[in-house]
Amino acid sequence: MNVQMTLSNSLKAKPTDESKLGFGQIFTDHMLMINYTEGQGWHDARVVPYQNLSLDPSCQVLHYGQEIFEGLKCYRTENGEFNLFRPTENFNRMKRSAERIGMAQLPVEEAMEGLLALLSADKEWTPHQEGTSLYIRPTMIATDAFLGVSASKTYLFYIILSPSGAYYASGLAPVGIYVEDELVRAVRGGVGFAKTGGNYAASILASVNAKKNGYAQVLWLDGVQQRYIEEVGAMNMMFVYEGKRIVTPALNGSILPGITRDSVLKLGAKLGYEVEETHMDINDVIADIKSGKLTEAFGTGTAAVVSPVDKICFKGEEIAIGKGGIGEVTQKLYDTLTGIQFGTTEDTMDWIVKVK
Ligand SMILES: *Cc1c(COP(=O)(O)O)cnc(C)c1O
Repeated sequence: MNVQMTLSNSLKAKPTDESKLGFGQIFTDHMLMINYTEGQGWHDARVVPYQNLSLDPSCQVLHYGQEIFEGLKCYRTENGEFNLFRPTENFNRMKRSAERIGMAQLPVEEAMEGLLALLSADKEWTPHQEGTSLYIRPTMIATDAFLGVSASKTYLFYIILSPSGAYYASGLAPVGIYVEDELVRAVRGGVGFAKTGGNYAASILASVNAKKNGYAQVLWLDGVQQRYIEEVGAMNMMFVYEGKRIVTPALNGSILPGITRDSVLKLGAKLGYEVEETHMDINDVIADIKSGKLTEAFGTGTAAVVSPVDKICFKGEEIAIGKGGIGEVTQKLYDTLTGIQFGTTEDTMDWIVKVK
């Protein structure tokens, strides 16, 4: 694949105060675009100045939500290198998402080539301060101008980049979560495992309600019995038993298979913890929290890496988890994983891809 480079002749000023970056608000000088046309395949891979899209108001994505995306990060290391964390996992997952939403699949090698071409132009936008990163957002949309409900014959794949601040400005901060027992995010046979915008649309009302009640995130239960734990917000959910066993809901089609989730399970096993993927009944989990058997809980995802949970609201009752503060296992996993990402801990798993 040949990536055409058209560089901007009016570069933006990079943010000077990296402590005020926040998340997903500032974008770099360039973006990658690749088009797909049925019969022709993927074509016109190009890096161009960051710009608005021009879409026909009838185009498929705006009506029926044929859209998928990914999220990963580029990290600047102490010795000035740029690290990507398991990027091919993201593009593999994007292919699985595309298949489920009936979209064309972009080969992983071409997506990687496009990303590296874009980073060759914009990697210096990766911020320097501890914990900061360059957030990478690959996206694919259906672009046929047609109001019929069917698979689009044309797609646009693009990648945009956003310098992002440290998720935790002053160390890991625990949050409270709210068990949602009415609304559901996804159902078996549906699109829960795909990273598609519709899943987020389905989640927003519940998250607004949880925040109104004073909780940072929603704990989602399964869509059939509303009894088995699925995810927390847009993160996977992990529990630690007796300080030595890491347990997470097994993938069942409605849970998004997080790359951080997979990394925590693999790293946890390597660090000597028992790891288990199983059905988790909310009633058992609440009982185990109350009895003290369940000692830590945290969410996992690219944005936060791990997000410790110190209290949970279930049927109007608020229950504290563990001893409060950050659990030992949670902290250990966070330190090891972020160490690998930022290049301060040896990458024994071969997870890092260097940006040249
Ligand atoms: C992206 C996402 C995750 C986390 O996936 P990572 O690959 O770890 O970033 C978890 N749940 C949902 C619903 C997601 O969209």
